[in-house]
Amino acid sequence: MHIDDSYDVVVVGGGCAGVPAAVQSARAEARTLLLEKGGMLGGTATVAGVNFPGLFHAWGRQIISGIGWDLVKAASEVCGSPMPDFSAPPAAHWQQQVYINPPVFAALCDAAVLDSGAALLLHTMVAAVTASGSGWDVTLCTKTGLRHVGCRVLVDCTGDANTAGLAGAQLCIPAETQPATQICRASGYDYAALDMAAIDGEFRREVAAGRLGPTDGGWDTKRPSVHSWLAQHGGNTGHIHGINARTSEARTDLELAGRRALLRLFRFLRTQKGLENLKLEQLCPECGVRETATIAGRDTVTVQDYTSGRTWPDSVCHSFYPIDLHRSDANGLDCRQLQPGVVPSVPRGALLPRAVPNLLVAGRCISSDRLANSALRVQATCMATGQAAGGLAALAASRGEAVENVRAGLLRELLTAHGAIVPAV
Ligand SMILES: Cc1cc2nc3c(=O)[nH]c(=O)nc-3n(C[C@H](O)[C@H](O)[C@H](O)COP(=O)(O)OP(=O)(O)OC[C@H]3O[C@@H](n4cnc5c(N)ncnc54)[C@H](O)[C@@H]3O)c2cc1C
Repeated sequence: MHIDDSYDVVVVGGGCAGVPAAVQSARAEARTLLLEKGGMLGGTATVAGVNFPGLFHAWGRQIISGIGWDLVKAASEVCGSPMPDFSAPPAAHWQQQVYINPPVFAALCDAAVLDSGAALLLHTMVAAVTASGSGWDVTLCTKTGLRHVGCRVLVDCTGDANTAGLAGAQLCIPAETQPATQICRASGYDYAALDMAAIDGEFRREVAAGRLGPTDGGWDTKRPSVHSWLAQHGGNTGHIHGINARTSEARTDLELAGRRALLRLFRFLRTQKGLENLKLEQLCPECGVRETATIAGRDTVTVQDYTSGRTWPDSVCHSFYPIDLHRSDANGLDCRQLQPGVVPSVPRGALLPRAVPNLLVAGRCISSDRLANSALRVQATCMATGQAAGGLAALAASRGEAVENVRAGLLRELLTAHGAIVPAV
């Protein structure tokens, strides 16, 4: 892969938001570079095993489409997996999430990025960003040392607002963050044949004795249980509390805590009747992180905005999910459904850090309060904000305008022409 010394747009982070951002920017004819710290695109959807993106539909109609949706649809088609029925509200919101195969999704992301004409650099992090003329000088940390790349507009899709922080943007870092989850895949037993009451009883005794953590195998802190973990053969079931994984140091603590918990749970379970041949088939390479930081944006989506379905004059996309705050007390989850008919939206100002020009943010770290963020952090919304940020970055670069000065109508036209659904204003 050849990398030039300068681009119109540099997108940092090749996850749910970053891939649509880079693809949209390049399809709008901006010279675009996508940087990713790991070896695989897709972010949390692939590397952390959260392979059930949602929600693209609300109340029986599609509310998010475009580049992310096309990739999700293509992944389903390649695997021949059926789509959920979207024609009416489901009994439970998660029933309209689309299950995707992570390796297939990652390969489709590779192809979409390359076909769009964007350049891609894996195994690369940003070490520093410095304002330079009407853009940025970006110092990359590559495997063989530092190198510099210039750009007009930077788009932070790291999920953690890492690049925005380096650029001097004000960040909102909550005192307590939602717990993380280490997803794995277990086999070697027949769930239906297990005596769950006996296993849970033994699990609680081990928790009381301090040899297991209460959320090693489930979310409930009041009544610890391992039944979800066993029923789902691993999956999205444990909680790791008390680590804000925004930095490399804390991220290291998190990965170690996740694997430590899994090992002690595995050792315990293998002593239980019916689990003697339990196997851990697959461990996702990274812990799934729900929350670290958001930017202080020109607009901030509050929980009142979200639950009332507020539309701004410059809304760039819809979002749809219950308020879904994972917690360190009670049953581990505060989940509140939206009222019938409510479809929230995201304003352009939530993607724009205050007082830092030529910088955009997309994905889960856009400007939002904690409860609104617990809903809009989901993958469909991240994909939609990514596409919007990529389009806005490309327009600003091609017109030589500051991102905040690009007319909302121009962005709306571009996104619509590229298949996105933009809220009616
Ligand atoms: C356990 C769990 C369960 C969830 N359940 C659901 C669900 O049911 N449905 C749903 O839709 N969503 C769910 N989510 C939320 C959703 O998966 C994430 O919020 C979403 O993927 C965030 O997208 P993103 O693009 O902001 O970040 P990511 O998808 O995480 O992408 C960030 C990318 O940036 C890269 N990166 C990070 N830092 C740097 C850096 N400094 N330099 C270069 N690259 C960098 C990362 O490697 C990654 O590829 C869940 C999340 C978790 C953790």
